[in-house]
Amino acid sequence: MADTKAAAFLPYGRQVIEDDDIAAVALALRADLLTTGPRVAAFEEAFAAKVGARHAVACSNGTAALHLAMMALGLKRGQVTIAPSLTFLATANCARFEDAEVQFADVDPDTGLMTPETLEMAISRVNEQGSGAAKLRAVLPVHYGGNPADLPRIRALAEAAGAVVVEDACHGLGTAMDFGSGREQIGDCTHSAMATFSFHPVKTIACGEGGMVTTNDPVLAERLLRLRSHGMVRQPDAFSLTAMAFDEIGDGGRDANPWFYEMPQIGYNYRLPDVLCALGISQLAKLDRFAARRRTLAGLYRQHMAELAPVVSLVATPQGANPALHLMVALIDFKAVGLSRKQVMDGLAARGIGSQVHYIPVHRQPYYQDRYGLIDLPGADAFYSRCLSLPLFADMEDSDPERVVSALRAVLGL
Ligand SMILES: *Cc1c(COP(=O)(O)O)cnc(C)c1O
Repeated sequence: MADTKAAAFLPYGRQVIEDDDIAAVALALRADLLTTGPRVAAFEEAFAAKVGARHAVACSNGTAALHLAMMALGLKRGQVTIAPSLTFLATANCARFEDAEVQFADVDPDTGLMTPETLEMAISRVNEQGSGAAKLRAVLPVHYGGNPADLPRIRALAEAAGAVVVEDACHGLGTAMDFGSGREQIGDCTHSAMATFSFHPVKTIACGEGGMVTTNDPVLAERLLRLRSHGMVRQPDAFSLTAMAFDEIGDGGRDANPWFYEMPQIGYNYRLPDVLCALGISQLAKLDRFAARRRTLAGLYRQHMAELAPVVSLVATPQGANPALHLMVALIDFKAVGLSRKQVMDGLAARGIGSQVHYIPVHRQPYYQDRYGLIDLPGADAFYSRCLSLPLFADMEDSDPERVVSALRAVLGL
């Protein structure tokens, strides 16, 4: 075991923070404005340009991004969203924050993605609930692991049902694809009203905590900005309390009173501070390099993992996609080797290799079972029973995928 002891423990994912990232944060810490300073808009502008969207609104984390998107749509009680069951809790929870309901869609058992077919089944379940039932407002595809969901067909189905698409793009930063009408990037909102991102340390770029919503709709962008800061407005043309807002005596009401603000609608404090935007700007400049590393490492994984077929396979990439994979998900036939997933995880950990499970199907969570009963989503259950996320992050060595695959081979006894 001497050789494996010498090698560093490989977590399943982690941030890559370099000296210039630290310098950028240190500079921001010496500035006057730690909260809403110039780096917030600079990060938003750089992000919008990078993913090809007209607007980007920064916020505290990916969960806040989803909540802001639902509020910007005016989601409310009596309405319903559709989210795939194979995702992080927040994709579903964001509807419940606004007292709306969630209908869970199944996923393809081999890709983990909500498909047009599984979406259609979920839409039928919404419709079956009969008169007076919640009305479909939004569909939230997740680009699981970094592979893009079939957005053109998902959008067509959503629109036919009177709903809009909001992408949970937390895994999708850096992914490009061609759905048949030219090159697109996750986040450019060609097929959606909004897309949401997270800068949690395991995601493709890191802020510690951080999130972003992109959109091409200026009305949605304006609402997102207002909602992330208490629902406050400070633009004089938006004021309705004119007697309080304007000084009729001094300047005859030309300028609004300098302290004045109004709250036409309730909002939250979901701001992303200037200091973390400094880190975001610095990290975003490295996205192409990070994505290229992820592609190289994924290629090495594919090459070495082929030796473990058919017991182990890797999640396939949809046609036309060039993903910057967020997760390296192996699908393992645990029964075939007579081992439990826990035994395999423990065996890998003993060899210095971290792994994780993405995700426990959300429709099985007690909160949702209490609310909706247990629905049958065989694709999500099948995916869950086989999946194991292996180490993937931008500063892994070229030799690491082989090291992971040989450890996996030894643990599985292949
Ligand atoms: C990480 C993640 C979120 C939540 O992001 P936070 O920044 O942790 O709040 C939501 N959805 C998906 C698919 C994620 O991976």
